[in-house]
Amino acid sequence: MHPTGKAQMTDSGAIGVIAVTERGRTAADRLQAVWPDRVRTFTENRAGEQLRSAFADCGAVVAFLAVGATVRALAPVLGDKHTDPPVVCVDEALQHAVAVLGGHHGGNALAVEVAGVLGCRPVVTTASDAASAAPLDSYGADLGLTVADTAPLAPAGAALLSGRPVRLEFDGDRVWPLPPLPPNASTATPRESAEALLRVSDRAAAPEAAPAVPTVVYRPPSLVVGVGSARGAAAEEVGALVDRTLAEAGLSARSVRALATVDAKADEEGILRAAAERGWPVRVLPASELAGVDVPNPSEVVRAEVGTPSVAEAAALRAAGEDGASAALVADKRKSENATAAVARLRPRGRLALVGLGPGARDLAAPRALAELHRASVVVGLDQYLDQVRDLLRPGTRVVASGLGQEEERARTAVAEAQAGAAVALIGSGDAGVYAMASPALDFAGADIDVVGVPGITAAVAAAHRLGAPLGHDHAYISLSDLHTPWEAIERRVRAAAEGDFTVCFYNPRSRRRDWQLPEALRLLAGHRPPHTPVGYVRNAARDDEHAAVTTLAAMLDGEVEAVDMYTVVLVGSSASRTVAGRFVTPRGYTWRG
Ligand code: SAH
Repeated sequence: MHPTGKAQMTDSGAIGVIAVTERGRTAADRLQAVWPDRVRTFTENRAGEQLRSAFADCGAVVAFLAVGATVRALAPVLGDKHTDPPVVCVDEALQHAVAVLGGHHGGNALAVEVAGVLGCRPVVTTASDAASAAPLDSYGADLGLTVADTAPLAPAGAALLSGRPVRLEFDGDRVWPLPPLPPNASTATPRESAEALLRVSDRAAAPEAAPAVPTVVYRPPSLVVGVGSARGAAAEEVGALVDRTLAEAGLSARSVRALATVDAKADEEGILRAAAERGWPVRVLPASELAGVDVPNPSEVVRAEVGTPSVAEAAALRAAGEDGASAALVADKRKSENATAAVARLRPRGRLALVGLGPGARDLAAPRALAELHRASVVVGLDQYLDQVRDLLRPGTRVVASGLGQEEERARTAVAEAQAGAAVALIGSGDAGVYAMASPALDFAGADIDVVGVPGITAAVAAAHRLGAPLGHDHAYISLSDLHTPWEAIERRVRAAAEGDFTVCFYNPRSRRRDWQLPEALRLLAGHRPPHTPVGYVRNAARDDEHAAVTTLAAMLDGEVEAVDMYTVVLVGSSASRTVAGRFVTPRGYTWRG
């Protein structure tokens, strides 16, 4: 491996390596072997002194010393981060290469390079890089991507961390919904200027000549090999046919997610062993299912024998197309004496996460919601919610903000981005499915994207805990917004809740232009429950300017409704609800009522 760290060296290209223990010296030799022209080793026992002279004379320092010892030794000579050489510390056990000083001035990249040489982990703690350092060795691992060859990881990681242009490539438009990369890395980086490539491809070799820059090839789990065989066909024959079929189609065996066959072959030794030897799971499909698959090379002989005109092609297509994925044959059926094989490829699907952030306070958002924000490369939402979470987004995340009232556009945008292959998070307050974006989004979404939902604490639940225990028995949620629902429908539901004696949670209760609906709804409820029925309302629940009050139905109708606006949720008790020590309580069951 050759050093790629051109950008990080300040004055001189020399790397001063401090190694005062036996192990350190051995490791220093390994660095020396990789960078013979640059490494200057300091091996005398006076570690502090040696460190200071390396710091004074070299463009960078690697110390096989504890971070604490290094910091103490260098503290008196520390100057300016722009002119000081970067310092990386490696522990005695050679497990971590820690970028201690000058992270943004070559230290982070040097830590990655040193870690690459020594086979340890780089530790980067500068805020933006640590947050954005999608570690390249596990990039896309949750989608099943694997790294074809680990050697380019270190130089490509160094290019990524030092802000040099990096290009992300897919096979054509088969985009995988990967997490964000820092802004210097994207599909838009031109080939010519890229100093490293991240390529997601199931093709065995790139069509063009080997690239001149470090290239990390990720193998996506995109292929399914379909196989049929005569009874007793040997694993060697099946295996050789499969390998040849992949090779002739120019496909990588590392991208095979499964071997598929027909149920009649579920115990066929040759097929099972060929799959096991290659580390592929076996997918067995009923002949009746395969019979319905449209294939280019059907055979009546096969139909008479196993009940489907195609095994290899149909099984490959069928297994690749599971869960509604779209699949296409990329290698037609090939035959050996006793076996057949074909390969199908599935189209990756974009990913839409519907994320509720909870009522406001960050510790009331689910850790999973925050993880989805990290996972997404595109985040779509209302400006005010985006502002709440901007600090959590990784650099390189694309943010699509929109204003109030643009729900449909927001939903369509999120779905379109996922359909284009991205990992999208559509965010909202409370729960994403409660009077929020999940339902319009899913109205537009087809089977061509994956959807995950993260539950959030909805306003009524957050408010309930400020008020007491108002939701202890049956309750109904009603939105008083008549923008999209005719008032007649809302009124019918309020009446039903009144007659059914539900505790009622009113969302969107009152605005300057919609001021009569709440009093009207309260009057309907008052026809069925006593005037002292507890009513609680919370404005901005779990936010900085939270305000909560417990009052009565009579007081609300007597003018207290004025305190309610669109940032408020209103809870009206059932006839069983009570106020206990100032708290709004709805007893758990009518049988308990004293
Ligand atoms: N998806 C949201 C609801 C959106 S509808 C949720 O699950 O909470 C908007 C209405 O929700 C507001 O008019 C208000 O009635 C209520 N609301 C949302 N957040 C609130 C909060 N923090 N405090 C009080 N009411 C809130």
